[in-house]
Amino acid sequence: MTTLTFDSLNPATGEIVGSHPKQTADAVHEAVGRAEQAATWWSGLSPAERRRRLLDYKAIIAQHIRELAALVHKETGKPVGDATLEIVLAITHIDWAARNAQKVLGRRKVSTGMIGLNLSATLEYLPLGVVGVIGPWNYPVFTPMGSIAYALAAGNAIVFKPSELTPGVGVRLAELFGEAVPEQPVFQTVTGLGETGAALAADPRVKKVAFTGSTATAKRVMAACAENLTPIVAECGGKDAFIVDADADLRAAADACLWGAMSNAGQTCVGVERVYVVDAVYDGFMRELSDRVSTIKAGDQYGPITMPGQLDIIKRHIDDATKAGKVVTGGPDSVRPPYVDPVIVEDVPEDSPAVREETFGPTITVRRTNDVHEALELANASAYGLAGTIFSGNSRRAMELARMMRSGMTAINSVISFAGVPSLPFGGVGDSGFGRIHGADGLREFARPKAISRQRFPMPGMNLTSFARGADEIERLISLITFLHGRRKR
Ligand code: NDP
Repeated sequence: MTTLTFDSLNPATGEIVGSHPKQTADAVHEAVGRAEQAATWWSGLSPAERRRRLLDYKAIIAQHIRELAALVHKETGKPVGDATLEIVLAITHIDWAARNAQKVLGRRKVSTGMIGLNLSATLEYLPLGVVGVIGPWNYPVFTPMGSIAYALAAGNAIVFKPSELTPGVGVRLAELFGEAVPEQPVFQTVTGLGETGAALAADPRVKKVAFTGSTATAKRVMAACAENLTPIVAECGGKDAFIVDADADLRAAADACLWGAMSNAGQTCVGVERVYVVDAVYDGFMRELSDRVSTIKAGDQYGPITMPGQLDIIKRHIDDATKAGKVVTGGPDSVRPPYVDPVIVEDVPEDSPAVREETFGPTITVRRTNDVHEALELANASAYGLAGTIFSGNSRRAMELARMMRSGMTAINSVISFAGVPSLPFGGVGDSGFGRIHGADGLREFARPKAISRQRFPMPGMNLTSFARGADEIERLISLITFLHGRRKR
């Protein structure tokens, strides 16, 4: 039987970058079978042995950074510098996950409380087995590695289905892991289209699915997982807001806003899409923004739109926004496939698609607000809740606003900075998904808590879990519990 293949294309030139097998459900199931065995071996290694191998993997990626960045550039179209940056971030995450896994997940004694005085209790986090990772194309190294590195560090084996737009990067990530861990297929990549991912999600031997992609696909993956009660982490899209307070450094805010919105052609789940600026500094901020955006052009500072189908959505949002609002920069003509030049539109109604739906392009809507509270209210009025930004000169107020922002992450006086802090969990609320990658939460996401209580000695006169228990023992229990818990605090 011949295996069907598909090509990954350079979105800027249309050239074929590589040809990859469309792996069938059978091939996926075989990979999961191999992964099950590898998981047993990998989880049987000591934490120190896993840590050493993961640090080796990190070193191998660092040694191949130029080659990998070139491949990311070819498959996504993003500039080599941006590709390098995402690989650097992925390296820091592998390093953190490797170094912190034992501390976060390892066995520890926990307090048993007065009632459990005769017990000792331990808690540890054990591997799940095989983790299926389904990834997007926009950050083909950084994004899946947020799941892969943490799941591996927690002792799991991985079957990774990369986006059909970036299969070469996915294959290379697994090959490089094989150089660090040649003994067993602990990290395999399966290539193909949506059906390949669907087969992975539907395999009952996959003990967790880490999905990153659109909200619509997350729902389909979750439905497939429901059949086997397979838990999932869903890292989905966003419509992130950027708030500029009255005392913000306007130059820094404009600079960060543009980068957050336009870098990677706006194809960033935590990219800036909506901007709310308080009245007092609105004009000043818009001047800074307009000055800076005039120097930015698609094809120079950022690359093409990677997924051709996204161009229609971006165009629809731009058409809608420019009809309803006031153009600051660009317009419908900014879409010149496969590129889209920066588009900034003011006063777009809050209920329009350009404000409500994820655009995933180098476009922003900007709105004037009476004060920062109105800005926050509008920012929070979204079905998504991935991340956001606050620029303010008052760190206490910025902190308060950040805490009130309905999102998984908020950056203050910088954009997207949380993604580079490995100890911070990454993930959203609402339509942006649930579960966390990165940090201690990201390690625990790929592990199951194991609780053990051990009786050290029988509790004299208080054998509560026995049919031989007497009424006097319950009386003593009531006395004890009243003493411990029966007083109200005034
Ligand atoms: P998609 O939802 O289209 O695809 C994501 C992955 O799911 C791809 O590997 C895709 O394969 C696969 N897939 C498609 N259909 C199925 C199915 N039925 N069952 C299982 N897997 C399937 O997202 P994109 O690749 O277009 O990525 C862009 C989206 O990802 C944006 O919404 C963005 O915001 C979000 N994202 C979220 C991040 C986060 O951390 N929260 C980070 C990065 C992106 P194939 O490509 O072959 O169709």
